[in-house]
Amino acid sequence: MATENMKHSPEFPVGYGEFILISSDNVVFHFPHFLLGHVSPVFRDMFSLSSSEAVTGPPEVKLTEDSATIDHLLRFFDPNKKILPTESLDQMVRLYEAAHKYQVQQVSDWLEREIQIIALSKRSKEFSNPMQVLAVASRYRLPEVARVALRQLISAPSSAMQGDITVGSNLFGHLLHLREQRLRWYIQHLDNWLKDRRQNFNEFFNSCHDCERTLFNVQAQFFPIIALLSSHPSHHTLRQYLPPRGRDVCSRHNTDFLFYPLMKLVNAAVELEKELPNLPAGYH
Ligand SMILES: [Zn+2]
Repeated sequence: MATENMKHSPEFPVGYGEFILISSDNVVFHFPHFLLGHVSPVFRDMFSLSSSEAVTGPPEVKLTEDSATIDHLLRFFDPNKKILPTESLDQMVRLYEAAHKYQVQQVSDWLEREIQIIALSKRSKEFSNPMQVLAVASRYRLPEVARVALRQLISAPSSAMQGDITVGSNLFGHLLHLREQRLRWYIQHLDNWLKDRRQNFNEFFNSCHDCERTLFNVQAQFFPIIALLSSHPSHHTLRQYLPPRGRDVCSRHNTDFLFYPLMKLVNAAVELEKELPNLPAGYH
């Protein structure tokens, strides 16, 4: 029931319509009955059920969507309101999910196209909750959106994959596979980098004890950094392994012989993180 500690929507205030919608964050929206029933078969069915029962007080329904999502959705339903530009891709995905749930076909079709376009364009920023986006993409079969969410999740901290979000096991298994593949990429390139440093060292710095010690310290960090990469396979993690640039090691050499080749590897990782991954075989 609408109570006093609830806020009323400024856009859909008391008297705007006889039907009451309450968002998950307790904002009350007043909306015309006939418009809701006209655009959404789900609401139409709800009304035809409730009309056969004795109803006390104004009809109202508590929704699971937040107020920002409901505000956006009602603007789509109401020809007198302006449709607002959505702030983020996360917001659009939530709106899409709501449009699907209330079976507002026109809106969900339009959003589906918009989401795919934005997801693949340069406008697309990172999702604040990529697992939620992957779950929606998986539920409604949005392959391009799934790929963008996967791209972000490959190099995300493993904590990003926790929480009670349901993603199809096929897609989740694929994500784990992609992360493992990325980790192997890091291990292989770091291993080559160290081998090259050792060879480089033997050719140019032999008999230099200070440089030898520095190289030894870098080698000692190899497994700790692999352990960090396994839970967060990102160039941000690799950056922690970068030795300082241009710092003197001995009277003749500085850290550049370690820094520059590793910086190249960091840049290669940044490029890799821009690539859109494939979807699992059999995913249509
Ligand atoms: Zn030296």
